[in-house]
Amino acid sequence: MKARAFSYFRAATIDQALDAHARAGDDARFIAGGQSLVPALSLRLQAPRLLIDITHIDELRGVRREGGYLRIGALTRHCEMLTEASIAESAPLLHVAAPFVAHPAIRNRGTIGGSVALADPASEFPAMTLALDAEIEIVGPSGRRRVKADDFFIDLFETALQPGELIAAIHVPLFRADQRFAFDELARRRGDYALVGCGIMATCQGSRIEDIRISFFSVGNTPTRVKGAERALIGARLDVERIAAAQRALECDLAPPEGDEVPPAMRLHLARVLLGRLLGRLGEGA
Ligand SMILES: Cc1cc2nc3c(=O)[nH]c(=O)nc-3n(C[C@H](O)[C@H](O)[C@H](O)COP(=O)(O)OP(=O)(O)OC[C@H]3O[C@@H](n4cnc5c(N)ncnc54)[C@H](O)[C@@H]3O)c2cc1C
Repeated sequence: MKARAFSYFRAATIDQALDAHARAGDDARFIAGGQSLVPALSLRLQAPRLLIDITHIDELRGVRREGGYLRIGALTRHCEMLTEASIAESAPLLHVAAPFVAHPAIRNRGTIGGSVALADPASEFPAMTLALDAEIEIVGPSGRRRVKADDFFIDLFETALQPGELIAAIHVPLFRADQRFAFDELARRRGDYALVGCGIMATCQGSRIEDIRISFFSVGNTPTRVKGAERALIGARLDVERIAAAQRALECDLAPPEGDEVPPAMRLHLARVLLGRLLGRLGEGA
């Protein structure tokens, strides 16, 4: 199949992009890396009349430290998560998750803004913004605002973004010496979307967990924090009993959907296995 005919506008500034969107209304889409949108156009799952190319907007680029956060411009490509030193130092969870996102050709074009805006529940980076307690910087016709990742993902492919709004950047709290992190996923083949994936950020005092955020992907309609499992770990040392308690808590925290290729009970089992592995690594000082 081929995409329906559309017009194309290359915006040089955020204002130009927002104006073009306001004029076209529901019939416009922003395009960044195109790694999700172009396949959707080709399959006619989407058929906008106007594509607004945002890849030439300088303000959406660049990575810099700003007020206790790392500001990662929306156009930062997945491959830059691997090569940008400030991301490896100050947002290492994104750095270790990046090789699991698709394949090199897709990572060379796909952007973090596009990934978070799309909010695919099987994607790595949206879930990592939850584990990191990141904030999403949004700019739109009514101004600029920052939304916590906890409040951003609403339902399947539904986010706090209003029509015509752009993600300008992702703000990640700077990684600290008293923090530990772990990431992994289970997939049929490397590069496939995960059957289950998980990222963890923990603040520790010695071997005691002061605070922890655990975020799963590929387990439901949105990236999912498992707050029962987090509660089972906060204030405790990571021993075998605590890890087992956190694994048990997943039963209430997660409700994998019926009717897809992996039965819910199997997905829950895989989530328990993955959490056990990651907490074990965290206990070893990951
Ligand atoms: C074969 C294949 C395998 C893949 N495997 C994985 C995988 O394992 N894990 C994974 O996470 N992803 C995977 N992807 C998706 C890929 O990571 C995409 O790059 C990413 O999801 C979207 O980023 P993009 O920049 O390409 O966005 P685009 O495709 O350009 O846009 C996606 C959507 O986001 C909107 N958008 C884009 N940028 C912004 C912005 N700044 N503000 C507001 N809205 C915006 C667009 O309007 C569109 O609706 C895969 C893709 C393919 C084709």
